Amino acid sequence: MGGQIFISLLNPGIGLLLAAAFLLLWLNRRDQTYVAVAAGSYALSMLGFLFQDVGPALPHQFHRILSNLCFILAGCTLASAILLRYRIAVPYWPMAIIAVVAMTGHIWSLWIDPSLAGRIYAISFSLGVIALLTVIKLFPAPKPHLIDRLLFWIATLATANFIVRPLLIAWLVGGYHSDEGFQQSVYWTTVQFTQAMISIMVALNLMVAVAIDLIGELRQEANTDKLSGLLNRRGFEEGAAAALRRQAVRGWPVALLIADIDNFKSINDTYGHAAGDKVIAMLGELVRRMSGIEIIAGRIGGEEFAILITGTEVGTARGYAERLRADLPGHGDGRLPAGLNPTVSVGVHVDHASASLYDLLAHADVALYEAKRAGRNRTTVFKPGLTLVSDSTA
Ligand code: GH3
Ligand code: MG
Ligand code: MG
Repeated sequence: MGGQIFISLLNPGIGLLLAAAFLLLWLNRRDQTYVAVAAGSYALSMLGFLFQDVGPALPHQFHRILSNLCFILAGCTLASAILLRYRIAVPYWPMAIIAVVAMTGHIWSLWIDPSLAGRIYAISFSLGVIALLTVIKLFPAPKPHLIDRLLFWIATLATANFIVRPLLIAWLVGGYHSDEGFQQSVYWTTVQFTQAMISIMVALNLMVAVAIDLIGELRQEANTDKLSGLLNRRGFEEGAAAALRRQAVRGWPVALLIADIDNFKSINDTYGHAAGDKVIAMLGELVRRMSGIEIIAGRIGGEEFAILITGTEVGTARGYAERLRADLPGHGDGRLPAGLNPTVSVGVHVDHASASLYDLLAHADVALYEAKRAGRNRTTVFKPGLTLVSDSTA
């Protein structure tokens, strides 16, 4: 036993560590099936290298069949893990057919018409086709992060590695003729090296993807208001500021609506806090239904909602506010206690997108205060004669 054993243990070791890491990750993210599938793939890769390089030679070279079966299954499962991460349908049938063709070619070249080249090409080209299938499926998928583009290019690299490398090495060393010293051959050494590299690249990529997804989910949770299903104040301020920046480039106007449920305190006092919550949820539903327009909407206070509508003139903005106001009383049919007919007052301000969010909110708030002052259950558009006050809903 020479130093070769350590090289031979490299890939099983990497497979074991990555399988364990994905398994641990999956135990904490049971909803992410692809993480468990990736763990399975690395475990199979580990077994493949153990059968090939470390385990005992079995009668009829059976260890080679087991080893290559593990490699093919590892390829199929890793491709599945990547596609599942993008919610892309896994092409199970084409994969199964490729696997059967690969193993048939391998067994044929082992037992029936012995040929080392035949065995190498059967397995390596089949893994290449599986990688190519993954590349084709990934190509049209949205790639919002750098990590998504990287994964696509790693899959492309893997395709080239499985298809071009065996041909290139055959050309360089003058073909594959004998099993003698296969473990030390240029071909097998490049398999060990490239497999270790690609395994680690894909694994790191998938792990970073898990972290990015988690950060995105936490951010969304931190910015969402559960009761209304809209953004919370923080989410609204972030979203609205970003929308204003986009809109300022286009030079279009923006409308800001503040909708405040009327006499909400007395709704709570008369019908209970739970009924008040239902009214908030209903208004949230109505706002989410404002379709066909680009809106950023959030519950920015107890019973106060802010809605930023981009590219909208005063008339249209007022129309949206009026529709919201008109729809609210009827929307609670059967869900609210008898006699509870909530109404809402809306303040509207339309300005250039270069205006600050603070100013838009302040002006819409003045309009809202005016709507309350004038008797509630109405929409008021800000006009310069109205004076700014510090707290219009107090
Ligand atoms: P106005 O017509 O002038 O807006 O009067 P109002 O009673 O609606 O306004 P006010 O600010 O006096 O009262 C708001 C109430 O909203 C007080 C608070 O207890 C209640 N509230 C705040 N958040 C929630 C919530 O999440 N659920 C419920 N049910 N009530 C809430
Ligand atoms: Mg109110
Ligand atoms: Mg209020």
